[in-house]
Amino acid sequence: MIGTARSAKGQITRGHVELGSYPDGPVLSPVLIAQGEKDGPTLWLQACIHGPEVVGPLSIQRFLRTVDLKQLSGRVVCLMLANPLGFRGYNRLTPQDGYNLNRVFPGDPNGHLSYQLAHRLLDLSLTHSDAMLDLHSGGDLTITCHYTLFHNNGTPEGLESERMARATGSPNIWNSLEEGLSGCHFTHYTKGGKPSLIVESGGGARVTPEDLDRLTLAIFNVCKARGMLPGEPVVPARFRLGGDAIHHKATHGGLFIPKVAPGDDVVKGQHLADIVDLFGDVVETVHCPVDKAWVGSIRRPHMPIYNGDQVFELVGTKGYDPA
Ligand SMILES: [Zn+2]
Repeated sequence: MIGTARSAKGQITRGHVELGSYPDGPVLSPVLIAQGEKDGPTLWLQACIHGPEVVGPLSIQRFLRTVDLKQLSGRVVCLMLANPLGFRGYNRLTPQDGYNLNRVFPGDPNGHLSYQLAHRLLDLSLTHSDAMLDLHSGGDLTITCHYTLFHNNGTPEGLESERMARATGSPNIWNSLEEGLSGCHFTHYTKGGKPSLIVESGGGARVTPEDLDRLTLAIFNVCKARGMLPGEPVVPARFRLGGDAIHHKATHGGLFIPKVAPGDDVVKGQHLADIVDLFGDVVETVHCPVDKAWVGSIRRPHMPIYNGDQVFELVGTKGYDPA
């Protein structure tokens, strides 16, 4: 039982779970529980911890319409809106306090709104599941490469997180031990003793069929890797490894004109983008500041930007497996 949703063998049940309170009533997220005919572990599947990242709920809906409950062992708990406040505001941040919810874990039951929400989400997810898959995309402001993100610090749950990441179908895997991601839900879920990961794809204020396919496949593949569905995940022949990402910010305002795409390999000095003012002059040229990287995400092309806006996430290339 989670909120008003009660799981039942061989059924998909639904309800709402309370995550906080508006001035006039509860902050609710829709929750669905798919329970297989057979016993097994519980997977926590979550979307919209960043409000505009709607590839997540759409791919969960697709998974639930196509999964065969006779073949499923255990339960998949689907929290459709990890941040209902951000979802209603179509905002990556919690509009009421301006925090990025996925940077304030483990949260604080007596802290700001986002901190209390983080505390509630971590408690709910660790209490009700054995593993977590957190679905992301670039939302409205950025476009993200297809990658997975996890916290493998050498513990059994860290190693299992990486094994799950390699099963998703994404060729890009990023073991994040970085300080900048130390406040993420997946980091603290794994520190809580259970495996977890993020899968990213797409954004730019649109949902492409490829992005939907990738996140839906990741859900099925993680279920297979966890022994919850029969069969082996189909995985890429080679993985590109990442880490130590930098978040490059513009120093001039204008229109953003990228020269590279999400997922591209880039090298030091490479011309990555121009920023053009309203007179048509190039006011800033962005060059790659690191030796070897791949483009984790870009600002949505042609967007008006301020100085200080993040325009690139560059993920350091840590080699290939197999080399
Ligand atoms: Zn996100």
